[in-house]
Amino acid sequence: MTQTQYKIYIDDIVRRVEYARLRVSDYHIVKTVAISKNSTTDEITNLYKIGQRAFGENKVQDLKTKSKELEALPIEWHFVGNLQKNKINNLLDINPSLFHSLDSLDLAQELQKKLFTKDMTLDALLQINSAKEKSKRGVMPELASDIYKQIQNECPNIKLKGLMSIGANSDNPALVKKSFEITYDIYKNLDGATICSMGMSGDFELAIECGSNMIRLGSVMFDK
Ligand SMILES: *Cc1c(COP(=O)(O)O)cnc(C)c1O
Repeated sequence: MTQTQYKIYIDDIVRRVEYARLRVSDYHIVKTVAISKNSTTDEITNLYKIGQRAFGENKVQDLKTKSKELEALPIEWHFVGNLQKNKINNLLDINPSLFHSLDSLDLAQELQKKLFTKDMTLDALLQINSAKEKSKRGVMPELASDIYKQIQNECPNIKLKGLMSIGANSDNPALVKKSFEITYDIYKNLDGATICSMGMSGDFELAIECGSNMIRLGSVMFDK
């Protein structure tokens, strides 16, 4: 694809996001984070030139390498992957704009210690395992509100902004929808939460209809 063809292609994705959000409300604004984990810095630059500013990675090392290589561009970097405790300092050195995948109280406590030591704060989302899948990380839906409050109380350097969830791994749209609804129900009852991050390339329209206001698009944004 030439850059002109790519722009037309991306316009079409933007239009799909737009139609989905308008079905919710004129006032429902959705932010797209381009997940670049399978893409090169050249591909990121091409998308940046079209106007995309928020990018996300799922490995601390990749986030470090790519953000360093692209440091001349004012990109907003997100981290969406599993954070191992021994990588916390590396993540904090990069200081991402949002950490989507805070997935346990234990990790929050460890993160809090490191943030306190460095006199930093970090915006984060609590990850919910909304379909209760063994293969997925995140807190169980029935515990989510309590854990969220506990992190707010015990971890002052973590600035919780809302929730993140990955839709149920299923071909049945009703099951995927259910998993989004479960997350949204928890989200809307949280005090001060403003970000509900759900929806990926295969299910973002459904996620938006269920209330998502941040979608994480990988393959579809990079035409893979
Ligand atoms: C890879 C990834 C995405 C993007 O997935 P696509 O299906 O390529 O859009 C979104 N969120 C997380 C947490 C991911 O790891």
